[in-house]
Amino acid sequence: MLKKLYRKEWNPNASIQDFPILSRKVNGKKLVYLDSAATSQKPRQVIQAITGYYEGYNSNVHRAVHKLSEEATDAYDGAHEKTADFIGASGYDEIAFTKNTTESLNIIANNFALKLKPGDEVLLTRMEHHSNIVPWLNAAKTRGLKVKYAEIDPDGMIDLEEFKKMVTNRTKVVSVTQASNVLGTIIPVKEIAEIAHDKNAVVSIDGAQSVPHIPVDVRKIDADFLSFSGHKMLGPTGIGVLYGKKELLDKMEPYSFGGDMISEVTYEDATWNELPWKFESGTPNIAGAVGLAAAIDYLKEIGMENVRDHDEVLTKYTTDRLMEMGNVDMYGNVPANKKVGVVSFNVKGVHSHD
Ligand code: PMP
Repeated sequence: MLKKLYRKEWNPNASIQDFPILSRKVNGKKLVYLDSAATSQKPRQVIQAITGYYEGYNSNVHRAVHKLSEEATDAYDGAHEKTADFIGASGYDEIAFTKNTTESLNIIANNFALKLKPGDEVLLTRMEHHSNIVPWLNAAKTRGLKVKYAEIDPDGMIDLEEFKKMVTNRTKVVSVTQASNVLGTIIPVKEIAEIAHDKNAVVSIDGAQSVPHIPVDVRKIDADFLSFSGHKMLGPTGIGVLYGKKELLDKMEPYSFGGDMISEVTYEDATWNELPWKFESGTPNIAGAVGLAAAIDYLKEIGMENVRDHDEVLTKYTTDRLMEMGNVDMYGNVPANKKVGVVSFNVKGVHSHD
């Protein structure tokens, strides 16, 4: 029933063996894990890469000339390069590692809070995650900005004509999710970027649910910023990505100050390190970066087109079976090729917690 020709040769059943946690039992039954939108499970290759770092070359990066530090620095810097390549960025200097999507979005909002003027507008949609609302509400409070929300239809789709009307000459930032964590619907971010750029607004994309599930190329969609988390894409917790176009990151001030983000320091003054290091103060999450790089290798080996195809098959299968039950209300019920693998439903008359 789940058979599908993948664009590149791949056997999903063999990949299941890569996830040690899936062999455990819960309440005496084989574990079935349907919470990947919250955080994904990790394949052995990622776990081993992290263990390999701690067992084989644990040391600090960018600070020493000994062998271990050289190896750790190569792995850490290499993780930036791999991430850049994975999302089609022009180079590692456009990739700053953060804690998670939330931190990346906060950095962007705080940066604009410093620059924008009272009355300037930030446009979001009605289906943003809290992490793409609250930082902007805070920026609005401190700077007198106006936060506006583009409406979505009941299935979670955006009407681009309506969206266009919301973008005015006062709109300075458009910040939208590429895929909804509630409904799974995929937003046409390329078209949204075109509309925003026509009015000279900057476009920030929350890729927390899209980067793990669909091929994302920042240059194709012309994103100015893209934020995402390692832990939702088979990588470890505690590592996130802030992608920004070089010319924009160059103009941004650092948000955290200390070691490694500086170029020169005197008792009176300091200058900032080059990109992306000016955004990475202190000892970074080296093991997290090593794990993220292994997760990217793993996803690339499968092929993001295959991941996409597989998601689509599973989403359609799950939706069809649930609809057949008759007593289920579905939300974001668009065709599987218009959404990532999130299926939201209520069983009529039963509380969702039950
Ligand atoms: N945006 C979206 C669309 C999400 O689904 C999530 C996580 N559920 C986040 C942002 C925040 O991600 P994190 O908790 O990793 O910072």
